[in-house]
Amino acid sequence: MSEAVFNWARNITFSASELHRPASLEELRALVAKSAHIRVLGSGHSFNRIADVDADREGVLVSLAGLPGGIEVDAAARTVRVGGGVRYAELAAELHAKGLALPNMASLPHISVAGSVATGTHGSGVGNRSLAEAVRAVEILTGDGETVTLARGDAGFEGAVVSLGALGIVLSLTLDVEPTFEVAQHVFGELPFQGLDFTAVSSAAYSVSMFTKWRGPHFDQVWVKQRMPEPVRFPWAEPATEAQHPVPGMPAVHCTEQFGVPGPWHERLPHFRAAFTPSSGEELQSEYLLPREHAVAALHALDAAREHISPVLQVCEVRTVAADTQWLSPAYGRDTVAFHFTWVADTPRVLPVVSLVEDRLRDFAPRPHWGKVFTAAPERVAERYPHAADFAALVRRLDPRGTFGNAFVRALLPR
Ligand SMILES: Cc1cc2nc3c(=O)[nH]c(=O)nc-3n(C[C@H](O)[C@H](O)[C@H](O)COP(=O)(O)OP(=O)(O)OC[C@H]3O[C@@H](n4cnc5c(N)ncnc54)[C@H](O)[C@@H]3O)c2cc1C
Repeated sequence: MSEAVFNWARNITFSASELHRPASLEELRALVAKSAHIRVLGSGHSFNRIADVDADREGVLVSLAGLPGGIEVDAAARTVRVGGGVRYAELAAELHAKGLALPNMASLPHISVAGSVATGTHGSGVGNRSLAEAVRAVEILTGDGETVTLARGDAGFEGAVVSLGALGIVLSLTLDVEPTFEVAQHVFGELPFQGLDFTAVSSAAYSVSMFTKWRGPHFDQVWVKQRMPEPVRFPWAEPATEAQHPVPGMPAVHCTEQFGVPGPWHERLPHFRAAFTPSSGEELQSEYLLPREHAVAALHALDAAREHISPVLQVCEVRTVAADTQWLSPAYGRDTVAFHFTWVADTPRVLPVVSLVEDRLRDFAPRPHWGKVFTAAPERVAERYPHAADFAALVRRLDPRGTFGNAFVRALLPR
């Protein structure tokens, strides 16, 4: 039966009129065998056409959420094998129950693991790399029905995790895990841009996020997440006296526990609780990742455009990500500062401001988040990735007939 298929934010109606939900691996294989063009939709939390099929190729969009057998922990090897449709919320709860943890999480646990690592999704922390760096092996179903496993050390592995969904269907990912740990989260108030020691502030704890509405030259909130039993020293701002939500007007009950109450890693590292709507729920998002040494200059460049940004902004979050090794990770090869924007849900008003932000950041070699709204020409984006041609070669190797490619990805690939 036909149904319109939307992303989470409902700013994208996918070109496929149906979302297939195979209940077994056999059903999935049969679907791939009869499809000339097919792509996976994860939890649909991207804000652009990255997950879409081409409108002119009668593509098939498939969800893996109904496949059985999602999570297999190997405590001795300190690994977990995760099915292609599993979300972080389920994975994290199961790992913690077994005394294990992931090193970091994004701001929300609602997203699928495979979809998140495919776009280079990240959390915060000067020493924390993108979520893709926890992956040690990826198992891919290709267009000819073969299953290919690429593990760390194999040729092409660095291109196979942040894949933009273009190599095939990720059946499973094997992730490194570590012993479970506790985190205490503190929220602090106004922090002026003037005199900001960005290195000291961003390094003050395991994960630090700074939020501004760009209504003045200051951050409004700083979220500081510290691994226990390390102490928290944050002399630059006053502690909040009430529980906070980063988006103005949203209830703090949607957010993970604050005031330094220690709790499991997966209930403190994300900002938003699994059982509640994350962020505002009515929004668009953009994010740009730049070399960290430009953090303060970029902050001032954006502050100079504050009167254009703030009318269409709900909140901006500044975070850090450690350099990683995945060819298409926006943090590839450079310790990174990320400028994230939660916009109002109004595409015509937001897009000109997205272009303005890109213009202000241009001198800092920004890489847009693959899963968010950007207006930069795809060839300009590809230039920022030294291994773009290697990724294109990997696509030709694993998907010679272009079964899994789409217009979004093809536009990025060097010919
Ligand atoms: C409220 C909110 C908060 C967010 N916070 C953060 C954040 O803190 N940090 C951050 O970096 N990003 C953040 N994002 C962006 C989000 O993490 C990314 O868009 C991520 O890709 C979403 O995962 P998904 O499962 O919804 O992927 P989808 O959007 O469904 O898909 C993304 C890509 O993965 C591919 N894919 C998915 N599953 C498979 C599979 N099994 N095999 C092959 N390809 C697959 C799809 O084809 C597509 O190309 C946020 C988004 C929202 C809506």
